[in-house]
Amino acid sequence: MSKVNCKECNNDVVPRLWHEDMYSWISYRKNQHMCPICGVTMYETGGGTTPFGIVIYSIITSVVVWWSFVFFWNYLAGFTKETSKTLAWTSYFIVTSVYVSTKILDLTVRQLLSKIVIMIRRIKI
Ligand SMILES: [Zn+2]
Repeated sequence: MSKVNCKECNNDVVPRLWHEDMYSWISYRKNQHMCPICGVTMYETGGGTTPFGIVIYSIITSVVVWWSFVFFWNYLAGFTKETSKTLAWTSYFIVTSVYVSTKILDLTVRQLLSKIVIMIRRIKI
């Protein structure tokens, strides 16, 4: 193994590895490279969210967003539970499609809206 200079104690050392999230499905294993002399974390490798983790986070976010809309339409806007659920689905669908569109097309919400306006104008002609 190659030696790395520790910025903390200024020794050339072979970093000791410390693994985090060893058996997690949601995130990749994160390795902390620690200095064996002074014990400071010199740098980290690995980590990040796995595709499975992204799915899990997306589901959780979707549920939270949907329930927030139900709460909004039901308690704050005063609609019935059934109407609120329908409105929540509609709101959720709009928010998700706007979010996904801006992510995929790399547009701002303003740019997206202007594109939609242009499309509607074309349809009318
Ligand atoms: Zn050190």
